[in-house]
Amino acid sequence: MSPPADVPGDSGPDLAALGERVSAARAAVEARGETFYQGASRIHLGAFPPKERWDDWVELSSRAWPAREEHHYMLVPTTCFNCESACGLLAYVDRDTRQVRKFEGNPEHPGSRGRNCAKGPATINQVTDPDRVLYPMKRAGRRGEGLWERVTWDEALDAIAERLRAALTQGRHNEIMVHLGRPGEDGYTERVLASWGVDGHNSHTNVCSSGGRTGFQFWMGIDRPSPDYAHAKVIYLISAHLEAGHYFNPHAQRITQARQNGAKVIVLDTRLSNTATHADYWLSPQPGSEAAMNLAIASYLIRTGRYDAEFVRRWWNWEQYLTHCRPDLPATFESFQGALAELYAGFTFEHAAAESGIDAGVLAEVAEVVAGAGTRFACHSWRSAAAGNLGGWQVSRTLFLISALLGAVATEGGTFPNAWNKFVPRPIHTPPHPGVWQDLSWPLEFPLAQNELSFLLPHFLKDGRGRLDTYFTRVYNPVWTNPDGLSWMEVLTDTEKIGCHVALTPTWNESAYFADYVLPMGHGSERHDTHSYEQYDGQWIGFRQPVLRAARERLGEDITDTRQVNPGEVWEENEWWIELSWRIDPDGSLGIRRYHESRAHPGQKLTVDEYYGWMFDNSVPGLPERAAAEGLTPLAWMRRYGAFEIASGQGGLHEREVPEDELRDVAIGPAGQVYTAAAAPATTNIVPMAAPGPDSEGRRPAGVMVDGIIRRGFPTPSGRLEFWSSTLADWGWPEHALPGYIKSHVHPSALAPDQMVLLSTFRLPTQIHTRSANSKWLDELSHTNPVWIHPSDAARLRIARTGDLIRVETDIGYLVARAWITEGIRPGVVACSHHMGRWKLTGHDQVGAGGMMATVDLHHGDDGWAMHATGRVKPYRSADPDTARIWWSDTGVHQNLTFPVHPDPISGMHCWHQAVRVRPAAPGDAQGDIAVDTGKAREIYEQWMARTRPAGSVSPDGTRRPRWLMRPLKPSAAASALPAAGPGDGTAA
Ligand code: SF4
Repeated sequence: MSPPADVPGDSGPDLAALGERVSAARAAVEARGETFYQGASRIHLGAFPPKERWDDWVELSSRAWPAREEHHYMLVPTTCFNCESACGLLAYVDRDTRQVRKFEGNPEHPGSRGRNCAKGPATINQVTDPDRVLYPMKRAGRRGEGLWERVTWDEALDAIAERLRAALTQGRHNEIMVHLGRPGEDGYTERVLASWGVDGHNSHTNVCSSGGRTGFQFWMGIDRPSPDYAHAKVIYLISAHLEAGHYFNPHAQRITQARQNGAKVIVLDTRLSNTATHADYWLSPQPGSEAAMNLAIASYLIRTGRYDAEFVRRWWNWEQYLTHCRPDLPATFESFQGALAELYAGFTFEHAAAESGIDAGVLAEVAEVVAGAGTRFACHSWRSAAAGNLGGWQVSRTLFLISALLGAVATEGGTFPNAWNKFVPRPIHTPPHPGVWQDLSWPLEFPLAQNELSFLLPHFLKDGRGRLDTYFTRVYNPVWTNPDGLSWMEVLTDTEKIGCHVALTPTWNESAYFADYVLPMGHGSERHDTHSYEQYDGQWIGFRQPVLRAARERLGEDITDTRQVNPGEVWEENEWWIELSWRIDPDGSLGIRRYHESRAHPGQKLTVDEYYGWMFDNSVPGLPERAAAEGLTPLAWMRRYGAFEIASGQGGLHEREVPEDELRDVAIGPAGQVYTAAAAPATTNIVPMAAPGPDSEGRRPAGVMVDGIIRRGFPTPSGRLEFWSSTLADWGWPEHALPGYIKSHVHPSALAPDQMVLLSTFRLPTQIHTRSANSKWLDELSHTNPVWIHPSDAARLRIARTGDLIRVETDIGYLVARAWITEGIRPGVVACSHHMGRWKLTGHDQVGAGGMMATVDLHHGDDGWAMHATGRVKPYRSADPDTARIWWSDTGVHQNLTFPVHPDPISGMHCWHQAVRVRPAAPGDAQGDIAVDTGKAREIYEQWMARTRPAGSVSPDGTRRPRWLMRPLKPSAAASALPAAGPGDGTAA
């Protein structure tokens, strides 16, 4: 067979000639006043299908070639669900079969701009996965025995609703909990829980990003940074942002854009990540020393005067610092500058070098590069060091110190508070916040925790602090995701501690095995949600939708329930929560049903069309006008295009003057905070500055007085950027009220001579946490997680070659894995990605293993738990012929099982890094073996709990937690008050 005329053989295509032919063709078509059809040639694939052709997009069959066989597609947008970035996808829905053929990028999406990472298009694997959960299942044996029977949705709904109704009517509100993994939505579940009157929201954030968030929160009152990478001169990353970071593809493409424009990239990562390979400066520090390095740079900026003094004067709460910490000094900015220099004088390059192992001269060079960035300094720290170390939250607090010194806050090329680049619309119903406080998620020992102490739940249940009647896991796999997963398994199998476990999940997983109900929920192309994330200086809203529903509606069909178009009986959570809420409160007497009723048709169930239609009609500025211009309703517009840009070029919202009509009966607080009696505007794309709460007269915060002008400011207690945190000072941690350095629990001084540090937090760019086992393309790309080890350590430990089995011993057990000997890791440190080591239990034959799950025996004896593989991944026959082509068998090790919990006493973040001993495997050890003593895990839990300073001892105002800190649900003032003396509140004997 010979190539066609325009696809030459070895010499490659004559692109110039092709280009000329295309240009000529385009000119001829456009001369006729028609739209040029960008056909399916290699050149034209560089362009996206124009949106005017999305109803009937034609591509030629590659299999039929050289015959011309056309496929006609409807292109329907949705939002990717395979990480938190919410990139746009376009589903190619075959007009003949009415099935999705593939997913590509949505060029109309302002965040992702048509691009995706490998995981986006792999959505098609998840949709067509032969092992996915398609029908509601109920356990048929003991919990965890692996026996399941199919039930109807009605049976499952009625049984669960009955339990919930009983708990609510008997006042057992705190026995209901919904635990979220990938939220993939903006507040829908919180709203449902509020409608039930329960404080039952739990998250995964304290094993993910709460360390990173805490540092930003204490500065800005907003817990995420939004770097304007594309316009930066210097980009400073503490983690692997280009390859897998937060928000991966949308950020990575803007970092790449900046590099093309000459920006310098500085990466702090102990491991040679793909991101580090693209850096101008890769710094591989001793884990936990990152804050010391940041402080050395900050100290350089201060002592050389290379900081924006005017920005510091206007926007830092330096006056509060002087008042509270240096009353001996005159209350002038000049005396603050002197104090600032004194505070950080000790953080020299030499100090940072001693802590980090990075040469002082290199640090000085990097500091000079940073100093040259001015206000075009974009930075990010999210998981990585902030999630690895005791005191890791100071990594992001010291990083933002650099931004705040440079005045690179909300500037072009600088770093914004994320809320200014994000938009959360108002929903149709807003139930009040609950009148109860869930101690199992928000225990008194952690009054400043950024998020729920989710990973301590098994220990709290074992402590006897409460029980759960009904526990939902939603796209969440706590046994696999959290540290100390076998303690999770122990409580999940204990029906006294957890009465009923309902797993809402698209796929089988290690926690669903221990459920009472496994209920099939949709993937990203099978459900509704809205999203908005900070990815540049702008605000957008994205719409996830069931694409087959939207396609069939375009063809004129009336779809009233997403199950009508999803495979099997797969549902979506929006409709499920509405239905469940109605069944809990069928006659409305509990006051729940009204939040799930139609406004247009009182007494009828709310539909997703009305829910999102109302939202897009009433609370997304600009969308109704944009839709009307095309003769569409806002909902129809979003169903057609999938994303809408609300604003761009926001700039520094803190500088905006508060309009006169928002100021009435104004009061000024001691730090210049401005309070108003005027109501907040109903719909705005400006974040209301409401976080610190009202003044004593009930006026809401409106802004802050800066040089005599009332500006929006920041939603902190002072209204300014908080260099000194009154919250940390007042709530028992005055020694950490300033950006500073806390020595990690894996600081060299805390390690025994034969111990190393294990980094366990890094992602792979081609895996999806717990849902990867069902993405065959991704499984083929990445299916194992060897332990990175430096050649000098390998030689010292007599590990001869890559692939040799090693034992990594933690404080509670060990894991057996293969070594990967590489200079891409610092000596004294080992690293292992957390994505792998998926498993199913021997005898659980109703669970498909896919391409990623080993079959294991899990044994509990006198010396603890032991896991050993009885079967590896292998080819198998299924509806998908590719499962017979699986060529790999090694699926890695489930390392998280061997980690004890390490709650940071301030942020509540689990400090992931482990002090470990590494040695060659013992005779009989096999890849993936695990041993764990959960008794030791309890001891370590208690040791870390002893570090806390409970609210009962430190609360300055009788509350459990500062009211201004973020919380998904904010219980009433009465529920937020400290209880009478009791366990854990620090006041009990
Ligand atoms: S970065 Fe990749 S996985 Fe994440 S939303 Fe975008 S396409 Fe999906």
